[in-house]
Parts: sequence; structure tokens; C-alpha cells
Amino acid sequence: MATIDGLPPLREVIAAHDLVAKKQLGQNFLLDLNLTAKIARCAGDLTGCDVLEVGPGPGGLTRGLLAEGARHVVAVEKDARALPALAEIAAAYPGRLTVLHGDALDLDLSAHLRPPVKVVANLPYNVGTELLVRWLTPAVWPPFWSSLTLMFQKEVAERIVARPRGDHYGRLALLAQWRAEAKIVMSLPPEAFVPAPKVHSAVVHLTALPAPRYPATEKVLMRITAMAFNQRRKMLRSSLKGLSPDIEDRLLAAGIPPTARAEEISLEAFCTLARSFD
Ligand code: SAM
Repeated sequence: MATIDGLPPLREVIAAHDLVAKKQLGQNFLLDLNLTAKIARCAGDLTGCDVLEVGPGPGGLTRGLLAEGARHVVAVEKDARALPALAEIAAAYPGRLTVLHGDALDLDLSAHLRPPVKVVANLPYNVGTELLVRWLTPAVWPPFWSSLTLMFQKEVAERIVARPRGDHYGRLALLAQWRAEAKIVMSLPPEAFVPAPKVHSAVVHLTALPAPRYPATEKVLMRITAMAFNQRRKMLRSSLKGLSPDIEDRLLAAGIPPTARAEEISLEAFCTLARSFD
């Protein structure tokens, strides 16, 4: 059966290249090209943009990104078995797909990309959060990317967009929302993937802010939020007491009751407290 881009259907690609999914590589493939095109569209207009894709696998999302008009896709794949399938896509879109074989955690990916850059990926679950944290904490801000459109387990997606007092609120929400606008733009049931994972998934779209939402030194903010959320059931005057002998005064000056717990405190208040250490 023909597909919109003239390449074989993904089930045939997987059979032809013997791409049986490997659990240790976090492989849950998307085989519906209408769905991968829809995920590509969650990243907004791709024309005139370079796209970084981590973990293209058999290339369903890669084909969506190219069909939706990405200027150039740089795709990083750890599994050598997927390379022949990706080479076929590169041949169908001359000059528009570069495939890098390696571990996304080891490569300097920004070096291969021309701005504006959008990152779009159905991430391997085992490295997704680590990559997100790296993309949110580069040496200089603004980062090399203008937006991130990323598939996560639904529970992780909820941690990224969580607000104070919500069950999922914590360090990931604070970091993401400090430097980006973050929202869940699509939810997917397990059956959307082959093999089906145990949990639901969701696509999160993050747009980089030109500067952090509130001034604060990253290192200080990260230290405070780590201490506060590592003992999230404790009052802040107790969980943060190792920071400074006058922590109660600093909390009060930041408008934070010393008896409050981490999960009640807004990003703005954490930034105000962090600035008292500048
Ligand atoms: N994008 C494909 C799709 O949507 O069908 C595959 C998604 S699958 C969830 C994750 C992919 O990431 C797999 O192809 C896997 O081999 C690859 N992968 C796993 N760890 C990786 C890493 N550290 N660096 C690059 N790719 C990785």
C-alpha cells in the first residue's frame, strides 16, 4: 500500500530491516504516519527550521517532520539496526536528513544545526528527563533551540507542567517553567505504540523564553529547590536550615511563611529567595 511520501509503510520497513523493538533502548515505535505528522505539527511551522530528532528508530516521526516541511532534520540514533531504514528516508528527501549514529547523551548536537532550531522527539523513556534537563540548563541562555516538542510518559509530562499544590509539582516543573512556556499538547494511549508500553504518554511543547521568567542565579535556585523538595513534607525553615542561620528571616523577606512546605511555593517566590543569596 502506498504512503503519502512514497516510502513503504512502517510495518514493512520494520520487517525488512528486522527492527524488533528492544526494551533496553526504550523502543516503542509509532507506526501511524498520520499520527507522526500530527505530532510534527505540534511543533508549529517547521519550514525554515532545522529540527533535531533524538531516537528516530524506523523513522515514522522523521518522515512526519520532513513531510511537514522541515528545512533540515538532524536525527541521532543509538541503534545501528535502524540506519539502513533511515538511509532510505534520506534518499527520498535529498539533502534534508542527516543521520548521526551514537548516543544523544554523548554528542554535541548543537554543532550540527543552524538556527532557528526546533527539537522534536519521541524520546526513549530512559534518557528523556536527562536530555530535557540538559536542554534547560545550557552554559548560556537563550539556548540553541527555540522550542522542544517531546513525548514523555504522561506522569513525567504532568511533572513538567505542574503548578504549586498539585501532586506532580517539584523541581522539574520549576526548572522547565523558569526558562520556558510549557504545555501538554497531545495525549496518547498505550495502543498508539508498538509494542504498547504499560503507561499513557503525552507530548509536551516548551517554548524557550528569551530570558528566565524571574531573575535568579541558576546554581542557587537549583540548590534551594533540591533541598526544599528532597524533604518535601518538612516545613521550609527546617528543610532549608542548612543554607544559612538566618533562613527564617530570608523566607519572611521573600514573602514565604517559614512553616510552609515546598509544594506550596511558587516559582516567583523561590526566585525571590534565591536572589537574597546573590
Ligand atoms: N522515533 C521513533 C518513533 O517514534 O517510532 C522511535 C521512538 S523509541 C521510543 C526511542 C528511540 O530512541 C529508539 O529508536 C532507540 O533506539 C533510540 N535511543 C535510545 N536511547 C538513545 C540514546 N541514548 N541516543 C539516541 N537514541 C537513543
